[in-house]
Amino acid sequence: MALILSNSSVSKFTQCPKRYKLSKLDSWKSTSKSDALIIGSATHKGIEIWSADKDEDAAYLACMEVDGMDEELFETVFALLDEYFRTYKEDELSSVVTELDMTVPVLSSTPAVALGLGMPRKPYLSYRAIIDGIKFGRGGYWVHEIKTSGEKPGNFWKKYDKDHQTLGYVWSVAKKTGFAIKGAVVDAIFKPGYQRPDPICERRFFPIDQPIVDSWHDNLIQIGADIEGKIQSDDFYESFNCRTGYFDCEFKLYCANGNQMEFLEATHVKL
Ligand code: SF4
Repeated sequence: MALILSNSSVSKFTQCPKRYKLSKLDSWKSTSKSDALIIGSATHKGIEIWSADKDEDAAYLACMEVDGMDEELFETVFALLDEYFRTYKEDELSSVVTELDMTVPVLSSTPAVALGLGMPRKPYLSYRAIIDGIKFGRGGYWVHEIKTSGEKPGNFWKKYDKDHQTLGYVWSVAKKTGFAIKGAVVDAIFKPGYQRPDPICERRFFPIDQPIVDSWHDNLIQIGADIEGKIQSDDFYESFNCRTGYFDCEFKLYCANGNQMEFLEATHVKL
């Protein structure tokens, strides 16, 4: 069986193996789409269209097509896009490509390959990444990420710094394109909020050294082997972190009610 990992599946598995199974192997998807998610998708769409030829009208029209967008949300998205276009009209970086959806083969996690006894006929373990683009400037190529957030900028960057997402994107783009990737450039667009009447854009560069990128590769192989072991033993235990209320999870209702199907079906559909 081919196993495809992504940033989201790696983070779900490391948070809670049971969450990974419900979401990725059993394919339960939440039926509620939050406003924050719709705003994020529409803003991404608008920026993707604009990046090609700076056509603002085409960008506004494209984000209207995003599932769940209504007039009220459009006002917010419009303001975020406006600020982004104003800030990056004269970008110091050039866009090499926007929106890239790719699946990259990783080494097999099967014992034969781990022991150097040969390669499988097709890659057992792959990694899927959807990135916002690649930019060029400041002496090299950078993976481009766009984020929208309602948080205070300081809190957002603190959390972002600890996130492994960037590493996954940089590793996959370097492996797929063969480019020497210097790291990631992240454009964060902060929504208006408390003590912030207007949206603001901030850009930060995250250079990543090669040994750290290599460690991500090793990490993926280890996670692939762990998942394979759990599939074989059918032992997707619950996270200890969950019981301590450490993070939020879309399956909380189901788990809190003794894994009864009716609680899962009330909030999720099986794809
Ligand atoms: S609610 Fe907790 S135990 Fe249940 S899947 Fe989510 S993280 Fe795991």
